[in-house]
Amino acid sequence: MSEALSYVNPQPASAWGTYLSQVDRVVPYLGGSLTRWIETLKRPKRALIVDVPIEMDNGCIAHFEGYRVQHSLSRGPAKGGVRFHPNVTLEEVMALAAWMTIKTAAVNLPYGGAKGGIRVDPQKISAKELERITRRYTSEIGVIIGPQRDIPAPDVNTNAQVMAWMMDTYSMNVGGTASGVVTGKPIDLGGSLGRVNATGRGVFVTGREAARRLGLNLQGARVAVQGFGNVGSVATRLLAQAGAIVVAVQDHTGTIHNAKGLDIASLLAYVRTSDQHGVAGFAQAEPMDNEDFWDVVCDILLPAALEGQITVARAQKIRARLVLEGANGPTVPEADDVLQQRKVLVVPDVICNAGGVTVSYFEWVQDFSSFFWTENEINQRLDQIMMNALSQIWNKADQHKITLRTATYAVACERILRAHAERGLYP
Ligand code: GLU
Repeated sequence: MSEALSYVNPQPASAWGTYLSQVDRVVPYLGGSLTRWIETLKRPKRALIVDVPIEMDNGCIAHFEGYRVQHSLSRGPAKGGVRFHPNVTLEEVMALAAWMTIKTAAVNLPYGGAKGGIRVDPQKISAKELERITRRYTSEIGVIIGPQRDIPAPDVNTNAQVMAWMMDTYSMNVGGTASGVVTGKPIDLGGSLGRVNATGRGVFVTGREAARRLGLNLQGARVAVQGFGNVGSVATRLLAQAGAIVVAVQDHTGTIHNAKGLDIASLLAYVRTSDQHGVAGFAQAEPMDNEDFWDVVCDILLPAALEGQITVARAQKIRARLVLEGANGPTVPEADDVLQQRKVLVVPDVICNAGGVTVSYFEWVQDFSSFFWTENEINQRLDQIMMNALSQIWNKADQHKITLRTATYAVACERILRAHAERGLYP
């Protein structure tokens, strides 16, 4: 393991540390009898570390470290994505799993929370090696996943193809076709229409609603985006369609800026074909220093990359009125305080990016019934769930004069801890 691990005394500013302090902040707003159970949320239910050995194309044997963490099963099977990233750690996966618990409860899906990861850089391996890693990892975590137990899905650097391999491997091992074991699958294998765009769509829907309540007109609103993958690119495209002007985009290849607005369709086409699969070098924009991204003049900031991006120093510079957290865990707790003091409204990850897992839930339900819905039905139900959840959270925030993040935790933790209390302790 790459670092010493403690549930209760995490590394400062780590993702797990961020999560623990977010839980601490909600305690005063929970009903008295529920706080008795709060410690449950501060440790994962179970965490599995697996060795993933594969034969590389050159004949060598390489070992990769993989994880699957189930943070909570109180409200249903565990649910959450799998990320492939060279820096992923067990502690990070613990935090990501815990955020899934909060997220599924915030939108009231009948799930707990989980997350998985493999320490690998998918850019540096071949498609065949990627398939072998995925299959061996799935087999290794097969002891704890399953359609009724824990259902993986895509996350950073994983997609429908990876889900197809996971579904096939699990199915081979159990000797049947287990389409409900993962979500985010290709449509041919029981995937859901609308799933690919769902997270970005949810970011857009919650963002549009938050902007309306702030009196910020999307028509002409300036947007800066960090991360142009599945979440960032879809949310940006929808914001641009609603009349917003995208002035800056940052990704792993660099930062680009155009105060007059970037043409998103051309940028998407460029990213697909550029050597590095990123925004750097896009002709219709100026390159910009990565750190200067944080004080770009804009109305809406959309972090849609990795955790821990909005630090205190960056929070002091941000010019936006509205932050839409497409990424999981992009803001550290002290930066949250700075943004609150500066009256920057943050729509937190655990509601803002919940659209993905919501359509994952639709996919899982469709797989069980083998009856598939139209894209229109999916989108309508998704929009309704996101709007209702946000409005409930907004009321909670108004009632207690707290941030939307603490309000989301209050709504979610009440549901989780109530379920936990009702089930009681075993034995
Ligand atoms: N990885 C996505 C997330 O962070 C989706 C998880 C899922 O669909 O289960 O919410």
